[in-house]
Amino acid sequence: QPPVRDRLRIAIQKNGRLSEPARALLSSCGLSWRESPDRLFCYGETAPVDLLLVRDDDIPGLITSGVCDLGIVGRNVLLEEVSLADLEGQPYNAKELRALGFGGCRLAIAVPQAWTWTGIEDLRGRRIATSYPGILQRWLDDAGIDATTVQLSGSVEIAPRLGQADVVCDLVSSGATLAANQLTPVMDLMTSEAVLVGTTQPLDPARAALLDMLLRRLDGVLKIRD
Ligand code: ATP
Ligand code: ZN
Repeated sequence: QPPVRDRLRIAIQKNGRLSEPARALLSSCGLSWRESPDRLFCYGETAPVDLLLVRDDDIPGLITSGVCDLGIVGRNVLLEEVSLADLEGQPYNAKELRALGFGGCRLAIAVPQAWTWTGIEDLRGRRIATSYPGILQRWLDDAGIDATTVQLSGSVEIAPRLGQADVVCDLVSSGATLAANQLTPVMDLMTSEAVLVGTTQPLDPARAALLDMLLRRLDGVLKIRD
């Protein structure tokens, strides 16, 4: 049984690309907060909607564990957790509720500029460096390609130069970082943007009403921004 709470709790990124736009979006929904000195928890003033400021990677888990009701995170981060659960044959009890229109990027295969790319078959038997082993594995499985995943938590784009991998599967927005490492994107696994994530479990009535209010306001704001 999830604990009964009469306040809604939203996890957002503490420091990073999504922090400011996520807060700005929630502010434009009429929310405001009193900040705690440690800047981890922000108490909602205009509505009983509080914020928890965390690493983006922690956001899906905070929702599946019921610590937070909602989160704002890149679709790539959510899909990675969904993919890992799926590979284990497990259901996942958090899902995308809304696409939020910022933080746009794609998860792409990028190969050394010296390669002549002919298609996905070129990945057979190759070492692919990525921070998204779950999404990559499902994609390779779907395509029937056997390759070796080299899991790295950061600086994926340097792996081919270091001889750790042949190609990368990494997030791309402008492509400048890839180009600086003599890599060129050849295929997209997914397109991403910031999304509102929520639980698939029913909320208690108080929080369900708050979620309804928030989604109504959010839809209004997103429509105007469109
Ligand atoms: P944290 O310290 O919270 O773990 P992080 O370094 O993992 O932060 P950021 O670099 O701030 O995360 O990126 C957050 C999200 O921004 C990504 O998961 C992705 O959805 C999105 N994003 C948009 N463009 C890019 C890009 N060029 N590179 C990486 N992420 C991008
Ligand atoms: Zn992160």
